[in-house]
Order: sequence, then C-alpha cells, then structure tokens
Amino acid sequence: MRILLFGPPGVGKGTQAKMLSVELGVPHISTGDMLRAAVAGGTELGRRAGRIMNDGKLVPDEIMIGIVREVLASPRAAGGFILDGFPRTLPQAKALSRIFKDLDIHDFKVVDIRADDEEIIRRLSSRLVCPADGHIFNAETDGVVTGGPCPLCGTPLTQRDDDREQTVRERLRVYHNTTAPVIHYYTSSGVVLSVDGTGSVDVVNREIKLMLQDTHPA
Ligand code: AMP
Repeated sequence: MRILLFGPPGVGKGTQAKMLSVELGVPHISTGDMLRAAVAGGTELGRRAGRIMNDGKLVPDEIMIGIVREVLASPRAAGGFILDGFPRTLPQAKALSRIFKDLDIHDFKVVDIRADDEEIIRRLSSRLVCPADGHIFNAETDGVVTGGPCPLCGTPLTQRDDDREQTVRERLRVYHNTTAPVIHYYTSSGVVLSVDGTGSVDVVNREIKLMLQDTHPA
C-alpha cells in the first residue's frame, strides 16, 4: 500500500498517517517530521530549514526532492509507505513521478483530507505538543494548557513555533496557492480519494479505510 496524504496544515494528516501506518503496517514518512528532527539535531539542513519553517514558507524543492528520493529508495519504504507532506509543489510532484518511475512504482493512492480555513485556524491555535514524547493534544478537548503538564509524562506542553496564528495564516496562503493545485496533477489519473476532515479522528480514520478498501478490494 502506497499513499500520498494531502490536506491543509492542521487538518490531522499527521494523526491519520500515524494510525494508518500501524493499521496497514507501512512506515509513516513525514517530511515535516524529518525537517523538525534536523532542526532539533542542529544539522546544517536544520539550520536552513528552521528559519523557513518558522516563517510558514516552503523549504526549497531541490532539498526536499533529494530527501524524499533517498528515503523512498531505502529498504524502509520497500514494502509500501504513507508519504505525509510531500509533494507540496508542482515541481515536487513531477520529481516524485520520476522517482516512482525509477523505483518501478506504479500503484499508489492520493488521500486528500479537507477542512475549511476557519476550522484549521481554530484547531491549530489550540494544538499543543509535548516536547519530550511528541504527543499532540488539543487545549479545547483534552483539558490541557500551554506550559501545563503533559498528561502522559508531565513535561510542560508547548505550542509549535509554526502554529502561531500569523504563521498559520501564511501556511494556509502557501497551501492554497501552491499545494492545493498539486491535487489536479493527480486527478486525471483517478487516484485521488477525498475525505471530509472535520469529523472526529476515528470517523475520518474509518472513512479513509473504507475508501481504500473500495479501491483495493481484499
Ligand atoms: P508539516 O509538518 O508537514 O506541516 O511541515 C512543516 C513545515 O515543514 C512546512 O510548513 C514547510 O516549511 C516544511 N515542509 C514540510 N514538507 C515540505 C515540502 N514537501 N516542501 C517544502 N517544505 C516542506
């Protein structure tokens, strides 16, 4: 099973990708997580990417394409994958087609999770993360506060730098201008499955699995 996961920032792509990764037994490959790891590790890539991410902008295509080519060619991705956060631009989508051709990959699905901007801004402004274990919580529904203890390990919860409202608005602008059109690149091949992302995590998860089952009958 090979899935490209699309959707605006904050729609729940990461959460859905993690659940599907366990349920389908394929690795979750998140370009955002890879960049955040580089930032945390203080690498050269991390220093370059960190500033760009905090401004809500996109890391240059040539960097991202190199990273993704390497990970998709690795044994880790050989049995399938859920690619979360790539491609985000048309040049990335075209490069991914070349990578798939080189790796002899012909079968994949695009899952497009949808939600409107107001819902996204509401969700992201209440999203808190545990810097120790990476768990994500929602201040509205999980009864947690910024600086308050992580319910799992007690570490004070923080807001991701790029979840500040001004950065979220820039990320949404970039999404609408640059990433949303990438969906059209795939529409004509009939590989796009659209799902309403405004339901609960479990409802969205169930819908995605139902759609995948319809297109991949057991
Ligand atoms: P995400 O966690 O997927 O929302 O990604 C967080 C940030 O990492 C984005 O706002 C971008 O700055 C950067 N990023 C992640 N994936 C890509 C990509 N495919 N192309 C360019 N920048 C990316």
